[in-house]
Amino acid sequence: MPPSTTRDLNELRLRSRQQYLEKRETEQLALLKAQVDEEQEELRANPNLSEKERAEFARNRTTLRLAQERLNISDHLDGYNLPGADSVEDKTAVLNKRHRDDKYVSEFQQFEIEQTRAAQGWTGKSSEQVREDDYELVFDSQAFDWNSDALRRIDPEKQQLEQRLNAAEQKAKSIEDVRKSLPVYQYRDQLLAAIEEHPVIVLIGETGSGKTTQISQFCLEAGLNRGKKIMVTQPRRVAAMSVAARVAEERGEQLGRTVGYRVRFDEKISTSASNPTMLEYVTDGLALQLILSSPSLDEYGILLVDEAHERAINSDILLAIAKDLVKHRPDFKVIVSSATVNAQAFSSYMHDCPIFSVPGRSFKIESFFSSQPEANYLSAAASVIFQIHISQELPGDILVFLTGEEEIVSLAETITETAKKLGGKVPEMIVRPLYASLPASEQQKVFEPTPTKARKVILATNIAETSLTIDGCKYVVDSGYSKENFYEPKTGMESLVVTPISRASAQQRAGRAGRVGPGKCFRLYTRWSFYNELEAEPVPEIQRANVTATVLKLSSLGIRDLLHFDWFSPPSTSAIIKALEDLYSLGALNELGVLTTIGRKMADIPVSPELARVILAADEFGCVEEVLTIVAMLQESGSLWLRPRDKKMYASAAHRRFVSTEGGDFLTLLNVFNAWTESEFDLNWCAENYLQPKVLNRVRDVRDQLVKLCDRVEVPLSSNPSDHVKIRKSFCRGFFAKAARLSRGGDSYRTIHGSNSVFLHPSSVLTEVRPKICVYYELVLTSKEYMRNCFPVDDPQWLLEAAPHAYKKED
Ligand code: ADP
Ligand code: MG
Repeated sequence: MPPSTTRDLNELRLRSRQQYLEKRETEQLALLKAQVDEEQEELRANPNLSEKERAEFARNRTTLRLAQERLNISDHLDGYNLPGADSVEDKTAVLNKRHRDDKYVSEFQQFEIEQTRAAQGWTGKSSEQVREDDYELVFDSQAFDWNSDALRRIDPEKQQLEQRLNAAEQKAKSIEDVRKSLPVYQYRDQLLAAIEEHPVIVLIGETGSGKTTQISQFCLEAGLNRGKKIMVTQPRRVAAMSVAARVAEERGEQLGRTVGYRVRFDEKISTSASNPTMLEYVTDGLALQLILSSPSLDEYGILLVDEAHERAINSDILLAIAKDLVKHRPDFKVIVSSATVNAQAFSSYMHDCPIFSVPGRSFKIESFFSSQPEANYLSAAASVIFQIHISQELPGDILVFLTGEEEIVSLAETITETAKKLGGKVPEMIVRPLYASLPASEQQKVFEPTPTKARKVILATNIAETSLTIDGCKYVVDSGYSKENFYEPKTGMESLVVTPISRASAQQRAGRAGRVGPGKCFRLYTRWSFYNELEAEPVPEIQRANVTATVLKLSSLGIRDLLHFDWFSPPSTSAIIKALEDLYSLGALNELGVLTTIGRKMADIPVSPELARVILAADEFGCVEEVLTIVAMLQESGSLWLRPRDKKMYASAAHRRFVSTEGGDFLTLLNVFNAWTESEFDLNWCAENYLQPKVLNRVRDVRDQLVKLCDRVEVPLSSNPSDHVKIRKSFCRGFFAKAARLSRGGDSYRTIHGSNSVFLHPSSVLTEVRPKICVYYELVLTSKEYMRNCFPVDDPQWLLEAAPHAYKKED
């Protein structure tokens, strides 16, 4: 089916971006080409097309051209190396020769020239044009004062004060001084008065002004919470943990005393009656979970919904609930905190509450765009990082925005290696990754001050966009992309897609360069695409993601009329209907749309509705222990298997010992965990079996938490290790909709619902046996839709039993 809307096409382009790198994009490209050909036909046949259609056609043509160009380019790229850069040994030889030829050019200068030349791969300038002192030439430079709005609000006197504050902050050594130097500190009393006076306020301030770490402490110190607890919600788990740690440190306390955090499967809080945790940093998902068990949040006096501008589903829903709550609880205070200036929408939604704006400090940030679209933003990023490193003064750390762990790890390797090979020729470079699944101790390292003669390079996901502020960054490199979850209600297919960010995000990213002084932002996309291709604002998560879990939670709160619910932004009607259908099939809702006993229990288990249903089914089948293990393993399985390049054979042989072709990947995962338990969690055993001990330890933690949760929802532990059929049948109860049938040709599968073409993931233990029907845990999209983690369904009757209603429609 050819793509029909610009959005589809955009998605197609993005999907193919990943595929260019793997050189397997022909299918998608052919589609795109067919579409463009068709449009050309139409254009010829119909000269009266509207301006809008013409514009869209033109854009599609450009997309195709870019796609084709990118394809050619990608052929020349070797992994993530610097474009055009040969091995460093070769380069040194060349440099030495040149050095002899021209004694006025030092090796270092020569290296700069080389690097600049290397960058031509992405700037399109010929090397002759570029001289070593000519770096600006390679960028399409534009002075960009991203903060002009904020500046306008500040009067000169305040500005002077801000400048003094800046100086003070740089000098400040003790934490107390840093606290006092933050912009919110100046407004402490006014802020507290505003909170006291109004049930809800919207708080706007630049990132790094102290909203997340300070406001809650002000409230606590002033006793605004009136003896009740304060909850600060965060869209991200990492942020909740790291900010709680910082606040505890600021108060000179251990984490888990007055200040603590709660995230899914992990918490650090004290519940002691004499000394309970009063300030909780909580993920917004967990906050909703807490509301389910205590709908009026009686234990809490203040709720701060942080990072509201990100428009995460759960924080949107929290606003809806909080809005209602203040009507019933006069003692309850709500603070909605947002980084951007888009406060009016929040205020109108929250009963037209007042907006409190903390003037931020803003240094001028110059933005540079690349002059041609990038085929591979990773290699482009590597070039820019080194260009900055060799041409720009110290101190000045670099913050690079990428989309995910894989990219970050790979770029970190490349630049660390390159920096090592360059040795003393360039200043020291300290590379620090930052992404959600990074262990807490590693995360904390990004905050370590940079030594004077070195430069820190932080490779981050959009977690560093607003949630975490790292001081000392002067340069931002923005790939222009982030990973977003997209859900298609028609087919029920969900995938993480690398997507262009919005202009608002791009400006937010740029702003990270101007915390300590004037900064520079290098955008790895063209100015044209900034103004023409990027959306102005991000699409709220609720309008692009699966809302089944949200609908279940709302139903559990007794909210039945979802179509007329007071959404901040409503999800599409089709998404709501699909969610209701799914919940009905899972047995969570009855024919009248009323929550069932099963549904209530499902809502109380903080895993996806599908997995919650599986756990409840396992209770009936008497195999809860086994199912919990598999559920925990499924959440973490991605990086479990080690396959060192030089020991692939040994690793495969070791892994084969766990394989259960009968039970598929699910039972294979169970075998691994059980064998590890038998080894008494032995590290050597992990090494012998080429398994990642860190992952297994995490699985054990998650599993322990699940056991506790089962206790809470009154699901007793039961075990039946020998009956694999019952285990698989339990999973059918939750995953019946994710079933696929082997095609007649025997190569691909077709999903039973929606009849989409999908493939067994090469890592699946089922690739050899190819069962007629299988159920998958998730789809991953690379060059095709792959089913990752599957198990065979021996008899179609299993699916029918699991969801009679869902399968009746088929027949
Ligand atoms: P906002 O929420 O307004 O963006 P924050 O309260 O997050 O601001 O940050 C205020 C200051 O606290 C920043 O200067 C930041 O660098 C500092 N900070 C926050 N978290 C940490 C941490 N984990 N380690 C060191 N400094 C931190
Ligand atoms: Mg914040």
